[in-house]
Amino acid sequence: MKNFVQFFLIIVSAMFLFSCNSSNNQPKETNIAQNTNTDAAPQKKNEQKNNEPIKIAAGGDIMMGSPYPNASRMPPNDGKDLLKVVTPIFEKADIAFANLEGPLFDSGNSGKCGASAGITCFAFRMPTRYAAYLKEASFDVLSLANNHAGDFGDMGRETTRKTLDSVGIKHAGSDRNEYAMTFLEVKGKKVAVVAFAHNSIVPNVNELDNAKALVEKAASQADIVMVSFHGGAEGAVNAHVPQRTEIFLGEARGNLPAFARTVIDAGADIVIGHGPHVLRGMEIYKDRLIAYSLGNFETYGWFPLVGATAETLVLEVNLAADGKLIDAKINPFVQRGRGDLTPDPNKSSIRTIKSLSQADFPNTMPKISDDGIITP
Ligand SMILES: [Zn+2]
Repeated sequence: MKNFVQFFLIIVSAMFLFSCNSSNNQPKETNIAQNTNTDAAPQKKNEQKNNEPIKIAAGGDIMMGSPYPNASRMPPNDGKDLLKVVTPIFEKADIAFANLEGPLFDSGNSGKCGASAGITCFAFRMPTRYAAYLKEASFDVLSLANNHAGDFGDMGRETTRKTLDSVGIKHAGSDRNEYAMTFLEVKGKKVAVVAFAHNSIVPNVNELDNAKALVEKAASQADIVMVSFHGGAEGAVNAHVPQRTEIFLGEARGNLPAFARTVIDAGADIVIGHGPHVLRGMEIYKDRLIAYSLGNFETYGWFPLVGATAETLVLEVNLAADGKLIDAKINPFVQRGRGDLTPDPNKSSIRTIKSLSQADFPNTMPKISDDGIITP
């Protein structure tokens, strides 16, 4: 009898999980026709909505190869294959997101480093033709708020925006005003994406009053608000999230728990971080998921990729129509060699996220199963 009850419970659980997932496996309905950033925001909330969950798929930092300062570390097959292994996951998401760690720009020298480029100072530019690979990988929206977006100045940032516009990928956080946020139409709902980083060209993670105002503005115009931030100290020794402002290379890089709670209080429904080049823990606040760092994702050629900096993942998140977390999933990957993104049979990123969450957020972490299923 006991066995029968267990069997019955397993079948019911499986049916529940299947029904949760199957409702999200529909083709993308994201309407990318509206070329929206803050000032061009569409009218307030739609009259007609449905209550289907929204599936987000998110990766961390993308830098697909830079021919500057020299072309010695460009990817094979001109980068066409870099994102192929993760494309099926992004294809089935309603919103596929990552952080584009550098401009799409084809010429010129960087004023950032002078003669030291590539030795002690890193300035990146990806060929504009690589935008086609981002589109083929099914990305809907990218964060442009990070510490490499300005490596080739205002021209680099403008060319990046125009290039993404030309392939129909939206972007957030290219500067602190006009391009701070963007809007997508998903399943009859309006979704705002606002992106922050730790410099003052873009919405700044250190300026909590401004963050609150921006997210309140986004929330007043959208049904769901997604916040992205680039922040925190870098490297394997900085995988933990402190409850204070982090200082790295002399820069304030955010009091990230305070930032995340501020934006959720202001109306954000999910907060996705990146910037430390390693994975960090997760917590739940007001039924909303905060992922403190998705780490490196596809960073080809110029980044040290060993141990913690090579571990990566695609985070799939199902949000309820009201923005609360339903469930999420860690798809573990690893970057091999110079940055060959590969499924990770050891699933080490699941264990890393779980142990960091247990250490940093023992009372607020989500449940994380050994196969990477995340539940509130
Ligand atoms: Zn960065």
